[in-house]
Amino acid sequence: MYRGRFAPSPTGPLHAGSLVAALASWLDARALGGVWLVRIEDVDTPRCIAGADEIILQQLATCGLVSDEPVVWQSQRGALYQQALDQLIDQQRAYPCGCSRKDIEAALRAQGLTRERHHAAVYPGTCRPDHGGLQGKPARAWRFAVHAPGEVRWTDRRLGPQAQDVTAEVGDFILQRADGLWAYQLAVVVDDAAQGITHVVRGEDLVDNTARQILLQRALGLPTPAYLHTPLVLGDNGEKLSKQNGAQALDLNDPLATLDRAARVLGLPPAQDSAVHDALARWAAAWAA
Ligand code: GLU
Repeated sequence: MYRGRFAPSPTGPLHAGSLVAALASWLDARALGGVWLVRIEDVDTPRCIAGADEIILQQLATCGLVSDEPVVWQSQRGALYQQALDQLIDQQRAYPCGCSRKDIEAALRAQGLTRERHHAAVYPGTCRPDHGGLQGKPARAWRFAVHAPGEVRWTDRRLGPQAQDVTAEVGDFILQRADGLWAYQLAVVVDDAAQGITHVVRGEDLVDNTARQILLQRALGLPTPAYLHTPLVLGDNGEKLSKQNGAQALDLNDPLATLDRAARVLGLPPAQDSAVHDALARWAAAWAA
């Protein structure tokens, strides 16, 4: 049974880019006769904006996109993430890390490495148990131990075959941050499994996270959903549309026109209907075809 989801972070209202992902995930669920869920990903509390969750849910509802089951908030699911972390610790797939950002940069320089990925340094493995562990430093965070070979291959439903060497490109990644906040990678993997998600449809800006999530699923003995990453909407500056580069708020005085723009990004035909509900049904049929 198909179970899909849209999982916005409440860091601001939806914009044209996030609506594309929401619409695509809804259409895919409808086209394949499945269930569509909304999950509010509010684990990174410092980045969340109070009330943005309710605004997002209202925006979705105005566009005819309503969760088939009660909405869940990640901020209320810490016990599940702790259980998963405990399991990984038991399996020696998670270890405490005492490194600050400066420590990591210094360790990389000492190794003559300047490997950078999205401006985040590849973790040099300083606190790995087989490198000597914390060596007296206080534990700050928990990291996932990526075992060799760290290469993950998977097939995206839109983008085709994908591969990432997580060892070389990312390194041992964070599961729980030094400030106690749960990392997106762990929360998303735990929740997708707990909610029985079979199909993940989300924006292409997230494609780079998939290999890490697959490694976590394998370590935790969880199934890997099918993945489809949707095209991004670019801002006037040619960069990915985001709340940071001033993405315009969605015009919901005319939800059909707003949905129509999102549908165009997905290669769907123009809406011929005057009601949102009818346009959605027609696009779902086109998506299925
Ligand atoms: N919460 C993430 C975001 O808004 C999306 C997570 C996902 O779909 O896996 O960027």
